[in-house]
Amino acid sequence: MNQTQLVVIGGGPGGYAAAFLAADLGMQTTLVDMNPNPGGVCLYRGCIPSKALLHVAKLLDEAHEAANIGIKFAEPEIDFDRVREWKESVVNKMTGGLGQLVKARKINYIRGRARFTSATEVEIESESGPQKLTFEHAILATGSRPVKIPTFDIGSERIMDSTTALELKDIPENLLVVGGGYIGLELSSVYAAMGSKVTVVEMLPGLLMQTDRDLVKILEGNLLPKLHKVLLETKVVSVEEVENGIKVRFEGANVAEPEQVFDKVLVSVGRTPNSQDIGLENTKIQPDKRGFVAVDAQRRTVEPTIYAIGDIAGDPMLAHKASHEGRIAVEAIAGHKVAYEPAAIPAVVFTDPEIAWTGLTEMQAEKEGRKVTVARFPWAASGRATTLDRSDGLTKILVDPETERVLGVAIVGPGAGELISEGTLAIEMAALASDIKMTIHPHPTLSETVMESAEVIFGQATHIYRPKK
Ligand code: FAD
Repeated sequence: MNQTQLVVIGGGPGGYAAAFLAADLGMQTTLVDMNPNPGGVCLYRGCIPSKALLHVAKLLDEAHEAANIGIKFAEPEIDFDRVREWKESVVNKMTGGLGQLVKARKINYIRGRARFTSATEVEIESESGPQKLTFEHAILATGSRPVKIPTFDIGSERIMDSTTALELKDIPENLLVVGGGYIGLELSSVYAAMGSKVTVVEMLPGLLMQTDRDLVKILEGNLLPKLHKVLLETKVVSVEEVENGIKVRFEGANVAEPEQVFDKVLVSVGRTPNSQDIGLENTKIQPDKRGFVAVDAQRRTVEPTIYAIGDIAGDPMLAHKASHEGRIAVEAIAGHKVAYEPAAIPAVVFTDPEIAWTGLTEMQAEKEGRKVTVARFPWAASGRATTLDRSDGLTKILVDPETERVLGVAIVGPGAGELISEGTLAIEMAALASDIKMTIHPHPTLSETVMESAEVIFGQATHIYRPKK
């Protein structure tokens, strides 16, 4: 077959969601990816393996924490080969399942690397040699890769990025994590739980600098004691391979020891879109200076035949944003009246405790000079949190002071990621704080904290006394 109605380039959560919907809508669909099955970064080397390892970290941490309530376990014995095998089995189960769905939907899956030769043709380099494919529509979903910084480019196996860190080749005694963003902190948590002495270095004055500080402070309360050190406002200026490690030179305001040796260094300083080497020069598409491809509300690029979705189409670089865009692009191709205009995109940091937010954040409101009413419900007043011995959480809600419309919800605490969708739905449905307040939530659950944060707005939260000002 050398022509297709729709070709989707890249089989990540953006690309496969798009291809699956296109097939469901009856389009003749081709999906191209270099991996044996769809899944992309998210399933092979991102969301899924990192969350599998964070589950292992959680088990280890909980076994320790059980001592607080009178249960003592012996020091855990970790069979790293088995952990690695289990993590791989999770990835294989998920990607294999997607492979089956490709077949069930009769999608033409080509394992190879695609390049545009024009706005209606791609060339695909595969094991069986190059092949050309003409298309009516294309969706570009090539995703992103870790940013590489020349300082760390010394060709040493001791320097890892998120992909190699997730391979879990060994557990270094001393690990330096460069970057205090969400990926750096999630992987720090994994390695710390498995026994590494983890130092985090961050150039900015705090961890997770895009996140409301009250949430980060609560995370720090639990995370910092598990880490060896966090060096803020500190830069790595050079690295050098020495006999038994990597000698790192730091520069910064509070550096007590400017030179230290680590067994391994994990560089996690952001991601960059895969917009090079895909033949965009043979189309009218010109990526911006960060490498993103501009799209309109239907996710159409300047080439009417080519759409772009997911990490390559801009921030936030998150799997669920990619899939949502993928479905919008396909519906637009199918002629449906659709637009990408989310009122809220949830984000979750899967540390312990988790941090999740959706819609407007306090930081953003402040930056935009927007007046909001903010209500906080501390988990110390939650029955469920107390039964879990985890009263360190917080749920907050941001509402418009005039209309009482819910603008944002943020949660920090175990399971915050599972709880945040109620906030997203509230924002999408233009709910008022009173709608959440009037909705019966099951007791005893952490979800009640969302209801009680709405009650705080009216000075009527059952479990805390905070009169309306
Ligand atoms: P990708 O998933 O990047 O997939 C792109 C695919 O395109 C790849 O399979 C690639 O091989 C293929 N490709 C590239 N070029 C070509 C070509 N020329 N021809 C054919 N195929 C090509 N996001 C979350 O929402 N939640 C999380 O918990 C989360 N955790 C993460 C943890 C880590 C460690 C990392 C690295 C990322 C994490 N992310 C998370 C981000 C998430 O993985 C990405 O936002 C998401 O994968 C983007 O999806 P995508 O469809 O745009 O592309």
